Amino acid sequence: MPSPAPSFPARSYAFAPYAPCHNWIAGQWTPAASGETLPVHNPRHAQVIGHVAMSGPADVARAVAAARAAFPGWRDTPLKERVQVLFRLKALMERDIDELAWLVSHENGKVLAEARGDVLKGIECLEFGLSLENMAQGEQLDVSRGINCSITHEPLGVCAGVVPFNFPVMVPLWMLPQALAAGNTFVLKPSEVVPYGAMKLASLLQEAGLPDGVFNTVNGGQPTVEGLVDHPDVKAMGFVGSTRVARLLYARGAALGKRMLCLGGAKNHLLVAPDADPELTASTVVASAYGCAGQRCMAASLMIAIGDIDPIIAAIAALTRKIRLGEDMGPVIHAAALERIHRYIDQAEQMGAKVLVDGRGARGPDGGHWFGPTILDHVRPDMPAGCEEIFGPVLSIVRARTVDEAIAIENASSYGNAASIFTSSGAVARHCIERFEAGMCGINVGVPVPREPFGFGGWNDSLFGQGDLTGYDGFRFWTRPRKVTSRWSLSKDATWMS
Ligand code: NAD
Repeated sequence: MPSPAPSFPARSYAFAPYAPCHNWIAGQWTPAASGETLPVHNPRHAQVIGHVAMSGPADVARAVAAARAAFPGWRDTPLKERVQVLFRLKALMERDIDELAWLVSHENGKVLAEARGDVLKGIECLEFGLSLENMAQGEQLDVSRGINCSITHEPLGVCAGVVPFNFPVMVPLWMLPQALAAGNTFVLKPSEVVPYGAMKLASLLQEAGLPDGVFNTVNGGQPTVEGLVDHPDVKAMGFVGSTRVARLLYARGAALGKRMLCLGGAKNHLLVAPDADPELTASTVVASAYGCAGQRCMAASLMIAIGDIDPIIAAIAALTRKIRLGEDMGPVIHAAALERIHRYIDQAEQMGAKVLVDGRGARGPDGGHWFGPTILDHVRPDMPAGCEEIFGPVLSIVRARTVDEAIAIENASSYGNAASIFTSSGAVARHCIERFEAGMCGINVGVPVPREPFGFGGWNDSLFGQGDLTGYDGFRFWTRPRKVTSRWSLSKDATWMS
């Protein structure tokens, strides 16, 4: 019996409550065994939109058991049939894009265009996964007379994913298409702050024809995640979230012999050279710093101004002051985030930074968790605002005299998600790109996300594990290569070494 998620009614920013978010286990909505729940807040209104299950070991065991039971049937379903489910999911997401976008906007606070972007980018990730039927045929070669070696990419079994609050639909779709197309079954632990995007995905996957138990969700927090990673039947885990948790989880899973890929936080550096195009640079830096209220792991959080670029900084400040809260930029996720961002700005100011545009005390519509876009100038790289992830609408500007001094500042960061150079010189661009300590680099690009089919993943403290999470690396992560050497020959001289 299909169990659709109740449809989300809102088609505007006006507050709308929503249904409880239970776990999705073997095709059924299942409350946590303990009955424990946590309120989910709409950040724009700071009101409770609904409640999410807080799961314990019994719930984790149930979800993993459902995934384990579904594995043999799904593994034995041909790849060409498995991806048909993903094709249908794409069509259903396009059908329901307004509902999905409004839901993301309400649970996360993004303005509608950004929420729609979350869904559209999720669909793009899905498109990569459903194209695997044309790419995942394996390899084979006659290595000797009558002797053939072949490689096939086999599923691992029950896999798990743990995701953050900032992209409720897209980040689960960084993992699911490749993992499911490969023949694995899956247990997702959505962010307890924004569980509804995943709830809708579960419902749409069932409507798309995914057999029950192939995809499950288990909601909750730290104990739920620990129960999942420790469960002996979970073979691999993908994680996206803060560096603190990524590092802990990677170590915990790896010590148990699990395959782990854990993407962490970021402090992204945008270098601006004096020959940068002022208009392009100003608008691109502003879009990168304040899109999704700065709550993006690819947000421009630190700009390094090389030499005298004061006219460009003035243009950035002018554009920043024009941002309308509630229309161009949404609130931050919760009151704790608001406090954290405030603290970083107060502290930077006390340490000598200049608050060029001040978002403290800004009020948006609807009484939510608002923080205005902020620029801190003359930040030093050793200030917390110069080296730690603030994860809010704050652009810190550090001054450098030369390109090499700017590169040295970027290289000293413990993170390594993204770095960009703004310049009109190909030589300067190349010099920087070859030296950046970051996995995703840009030239005159504010958010250098490698779009599909290119993989997404940082370096250093921004990623623990090997390879990227999306693109073909994702398929490799969720599979293991089986090598088969076979001898079929009527000729007697067919030997392994012949
Ligand atoms: P978070 O690390 O607090 O939470 C992420 C997930 O981990 C959630 O599902 C949460 O329930 C779980 N979790 C929290 N504490 C845990 C613990 N101690 N043990 C086990 N699990 C735990 O991150 P967040 O606040 O949801 O998201 C923001 C962070 O995510 C930022 O640091 C941002 O840079 C990062 N992020 C990184 C990427 C990337 O691709 N590198 C993408 C998106 C977000």
